[in-house]
Order: sequence, then structure tokens, then C-alpha cells
Amino acid sequence: MSSEIWVVADQKIDGSIRKVTFEAITEAKRSLADKIGGPVCGVVLGSGAADKASELGKYGAEKVYVVDNENLKDFNPDGYIKALSELIKKHSPKIVLAGNTSFSEDYIPRVASRVGAGLAMDCVGIGLTDDNRLKIERYSHSSRAISTQEFHDSDTMMATVRPNAFKEQESGGSGEVVNESIDISADDIKIKVVNIETKESDRPELTEAERVVSGGRGLGSEENFEHIYNLADLLGAAAGATRAAVDAGYCPYNMQVGQTGKAVSPVLYIAVAISGAVQHFSGMGSSKVIVSINKDPDAPIFQKSDYGICGDLFDVLPPLNEELKKALAE
Ligand SMILES: Cc1cc2nc3c(=O)[nH]c(=O)nc-3n(C[C@H](O)[C@H](O)[C@H](O)COP(=O)(O)OP(=O)(O)OC[C@H]3O[C@@H](n4cnc5c(N)ncnc54)[C@H](O)[C@@H]3O)c2cc1C
Repeated sequence: MSSEIWVVADQKIDGSIRKVTFEAITEAKRSLADKIGGPVCGVVLGSGAADKASELGKYGAEKVYVVDNENLKDFNPDGYIKALSELIKKHSPKIVLAGNTSFSEDYIPRVASRVGAGLAMDCVGIGLTDDNRLKIERYSHSSRAISTQEFHDSDTMMATVRPNAFKEQESGGSGEVVNESIDISADDIKIKVVNIETKESDRPELTEAERVVSGGRGLGSEENFEHIYNLADLLGAAAGATRAAVDAGYCPYNMQVGQTGKAVSPVLYIAVAISGAVQHFSGMGSSKVIVSINKDPDAPIFQKSDYGICGDLFDVLPPLNEELKKALAE
């Protein structure tokens, strides 16, 4: 067993690396590396992946393992599971971290199972016990409690971290690139990606955004969701929604926040015409500041909010948007 702490890079469809990777490297250096006495290393899997390695070094990865293989072009679980499992078996790192994203939710648990490692998903705190077992914090009970959990033993331990749970910080380093050749043939890939359709948006991605404006069923129609988009654009925020709004067809599923949608952890979460059901709260309860706009003074969301505006959204949002425009112009 080596004393290395690995952070597996999470890549977007265009190949760029998600911020959560840099957040995980920064936090691993801050709260794990000294005590364990091992380096933080990056892992980049993909086709043309070598170009990305230097970015991880900037945040403090001392070494970056790269598996560059054309069969890893476009995310596919078969290839990624094999590549990462073989790499872990070869080097036996102490800890393996990854961002908690839809990609890692797909393949990281299967890697953990294949290499026989313990795994904790969606952590918002990471540290160590006195005998260097991984100790993590994660939300439970629909984000109303935080539980602290320890790994049983200190063989390879794996965890995914929630985007925005930690702050990334450049350290000015440049990681040594270690090219690894892992045999991944076309036969290994059982599912072929035949087409990727992306929806262009100037708004930040929901799970990574520092500010999120979400709308609920109270918006009443797809057209009225323009109020949400206008406010989001003024604030440079991502736009989210409740399941009720998605089910009603006001906006697409990729905007859904909550238990069966995305988990977000922004600095500011503005909930417009959202009642505050536990299933919604479980996806946004870790937001630093929650602001709610609701016409029902007894709406449960107010009990979970830092600031509340009790009023009709159609009265509140237009002047709020105007004032914001003026303030931003100044
Ligand atoms: C297994 C399961 C999983 C689920 N997963 C999710 C999930 O991932 N995400 C999720 O969000 N939900 C989820 N739900 C659904 C959840 O239980 C709630 O039904 C849903 O969150 C309610 O959405 P809402 O707040 O938009 O609607 P409502 O509960 O109908 O609330 C609408 C609110 O808008 C207010 N309002 C209405 N008009 C106005 C106005 N003009 N101005 C101001 N306020 C107004 C009302 O006062 C009310 O508080 C799940 C449920 C189940 C059973």
C-alpha cells in the first residue's frame, strides 16, 4: 500500500476539467497529505488526456497518472472502470477521491467494488482518524443532519466529494506526468456512444454554480419561467427547478434540484414559489445562504431560509430585477 492520495479528474463532454477536481486536490492537500505523509496525485483518463495533466499540477498534484487511450474517447463506464481499477491495483494508493458528478456516480462505485475498496459518496468534509483511516462528513435525513463516518480499515479508501463543498486554490506547482498504458480494447467497451447532443447555455452549470435561482410549481407556466432566467442571468447564476415544475413541463429535467435531481451547494440559493418539500431540500440544503420568495407565509421553505420575502412572485420579481439592473449598471 502506497501513501499516495489520488484525485481522479472529472471531465466535461468537451474534455475540460470540472472545478470539483481542483477543489478535491486543494482539500486533499490541506486536510490529508501532511498527516498521511504522501503526495496528492491526479489521475486523468481519456483520449488526448495528456494535455489536461498540467492543469492538475497547478492546484498541487505532484504527479499525474495519465491513461490516454482512444477507446476512452467520450465517457463510457466499461473503459473507465477497467482503466481506473487496473491503475489502483497496480499502485495501491491509500485514498482515491473524485468529484460527485453524474459520471462518477456511474462508474466509481463499480470501481470500488472491483478493487474491494470502501466507498463514501457525496462527502462535504474529509479528514483522518488518529490511525489514518478516512473520516468523512455527509448530509443525511434530507440534508437536515450531517453525519460523520469512519472507514473500518485503512486499505484503499474511496470517496466522492460534493461540488462547491471545498474551495479550490492554485498552488503554482506543475505535476510530473506519468503515462500509463492500460490495455483497453474496443471489445472491452460494451456500450458505444453513437451521438452526443448538448444544449448550449451561457449560464453556469447547476452543480458547479456559486449562485442558483430556482423556480417551483407556483410559476404556473413555461413562459413565466422567464422570470427565473432573467434573475439568474442578472446574477450570473444557474437556473434550477423543483420536480413539480419539471413534471408540469415548465422546464427540462436537467434543471431539477433534489432527491431525484441534482444536488447543489451554492453560496446563494434563491427559491421562487417553492414550498420546501424535504425531497427538494435534500438537493439544496447545503447552500450557504437561502433566500425564499413565496406568497404563503406558512410555506415550510421559510423555516429553512436565511432571508424570506413573503409576496407574490409577479409583484416581487419585476422590481427586484429592475433594481438589480440599476445596481449592476452603477
Ligand atoms: C420519491 C420522491 C422524490 C422526489 N424528488 C424530488 C426532487 O428531486 N426535487 C423536488 O423538487 N421535488 C421532489 N419530489 C417532490 C416533492 O415532494 C414536492 O412535491 C415538490 O418539491 C414540490 O414542488 P414545488 O415546491 O414547486 O410545488 P408546491 O409544493 O406545489 O409549492 C408551490 C409553492 O409556490 C407558492 N406559490 C404559488 N404561487 C405563487 C406566487 N404567485 N408567488 C409566490 N409563491 C407562489 C405556493 O405558496 C407554494 O408554496 C419528490 C417526491 C417524491 C415522492
